Amino acid sequence: NAGLAQADPEVAAQIANELHRQQNTLEMIASENFASVAAMQAQGSVLTNKYAEGYPGRRYYGGCEFVDVIEKLAIDRIKALFGAGFANVQPHSGAQANAAAMQALIKPGDTILGLSLAHGGHLTHGMRINFSGLLYNVAAYEVSKEDYRVDMDEVERLAKAHQPKLIIAGWSAYPRQLDFARFRQIADEVGAYLMVDMAHFAGLVAAGLHPSPVPYAHVTTTTTHKTLGGPRGGVILTNDADLAKKINSAVFPGQQGGPLEHVIAAKAVAFKMAADPAFTERAGRTVRGASILAERLVADDVTAAGVTVLTGGTDVHLVLVDLRNSDLDGKTAEDRLHSVGITVNRNAVPFDPRPPMVTSGLRIGTPALATRGFGDEDFAEVADIIAAALTAGVGDLDDELATGLKARVAALAEAHPLYPDLTY
Ligand code: PLP
Repeated sequence: NAGLAQADPEVAAQIANELHRQQNTLEMIASENFASVAAMQAQGSVLTNKYAEGYPGRRYYGGCEFVDVIEKLAIDRIKALFGAGFANVQPHSGAQANAAAMQALIKPGDTILGLSLAHGGHLTHGMRINFSGLLYNVAAYEVSKEDYRVDMDEVERLAKAHQPKLIIAGWSAYPRQLDFARFRQIADEVGAYLMVDMAHFAGLVAAGLHPSPVPYAHVTTTTTHKTLGGPRGGVILTNDADLAKKINSAVFPGQQGGPLEHVIAAKAVAFKMAADPAFTERAGRTVRGASILAERLVADDVTAAGVTVLTGGTDVHLVLVDLRNSDLDGKTAEDRLHSVGITVNRNAVPFDPRPPMVTSGLRIGTPALATRGFGDEDFAEVADIIAAALTAGVGDLDDELATGLKARVAALAEAHPLYPDLTY
């Protein structure tokens, strides 16, 4: 029963390295966050040992009396958080939540209509070699060439032309809010189900800073580790009792075997925290931080260098940087920010002329830094560092500039300690 450092020093050393990386750099990958120590304790608990196929009160294994209570807590808490009548908290990930939701709603060969991957949609919304593209007939809507927003008239036109059985609203890289009421109206017009994948913005919905899709969608899916700030995982919500039954059987036995009760316990902890006023305050800093970043990156000195922000701003927790007019491409820009201690991911922009491994964009998000305690002034400083790095021309940063930016990153990291009591 040796601890990790004794039993496996190689793994322990790399976990310690990862902890230091998270502590000493600025994490701005829009889909990432820092789970609470409490949630990580739940996830690292003896619950990992327990088989519990089935649902609370209806298990296929004995000894489920305690995991039943935990899973019920997770279900009740997320139902209350989003005002949903039903929740399944067992999906191992967002992708599996979507796979199960689709299995509950439609049949292989049916047509789905989702946002194109190249325009900000997710793999599971119909990408060619994802299960969604392999099982279903895919039609996709795109953002408009004029303003880079989803054009609802175009969604309606495509829905009428393709007669999908399922319309998917939701995104992985899109800086604005969607019109859920209009999506539902279109779905009703063509007799389709509406599924909203709120994986990215669920935390903003929970905080009341983003409209909720739950009253409009037949089914809403989410991850629990992005803006919601919990452990990695997925959830499915609905207000339709008939669909609830189908969703339960699509998750188990449809897509999964035994649920990860240790992760479900961590989800329960995260859902409790998301109902706390401190979470709302943090979500406010998240959204304001993204707006501060967007404002800095549309200033004259930045646009003069060919760098700007898609749609000119943001309503959410992320900014999409458009480098199409810059000599810096997405890959070089990602590497450049990494070299000064800021982690982001390159991202194709709609109508991107550069290849997918290079791209002309960056997706930059604020949830993780807000969780670290960053406020408006800190985000203004981060925005300034990013602006300086992205406007410095191509080639290696000159030493003096690089040293200065690294020192500013280090000062921010030091001012907001992360996991100060953790050791491995
Ligand atoms: N849905 C959306 C909109 C996402 O952005 C993601 C993750 O990036 C997922 C689903 C999939 O989540 P997971 O990585 O947990 O499978």
